[in-house]
Amino acid sequence: MQKEYFAPGISADTGFFWEGTREHKLTVQRCKKCGRLRWPASYLCPDCLCSETETEELSGEGVLYSYTTFHKSFHPSLSEKVPYIVCEVDLKEGVRVVSNLVDTDGREPECGARLKVCWQDFEGYTKPVFKMEDI
Ligand SMILES: [Zn+2]
Repeated sequence: MQKEYFAPGISADTGFFWEGTREHKLTVQRCKKCGRLRWPASYLCPDCLCSETETEELSGEGVLYSYTTFHKSFHPSLSEKVPYIVCEVDLKEGVRVVSNLVDTDGREPECGARLKVCWQDFEGYTKPVFKMEDI
């Protein structure tokens, strides 16, 4: 079990997401009225203002949209983790998520690289992160 310093804020709107990650499922809300996938989770649909949603599991497959490598820790408690990569991933279902890119084997990531979700278990929650498919 890894130690994490910035645990996610789990709310009534995001509880389903973190419950899914415990089972290694990447989920988002789908609006029951217009069908839009909602990310980040929200109480109301930004398109039709409907509050009703259903939970949809995503493939966890996507491409690297952008990334940055932190060589200096954002916070002193993260100093053991540098360098680490924060990335934006365009999932194939049309949702863009922010996460970490891990296990690059020292390779420089390329925008457009195919990524697949993987999981990091922490005390109390599981975090989705991504790695390049060809590694
Ligand atoms: Zn809607």
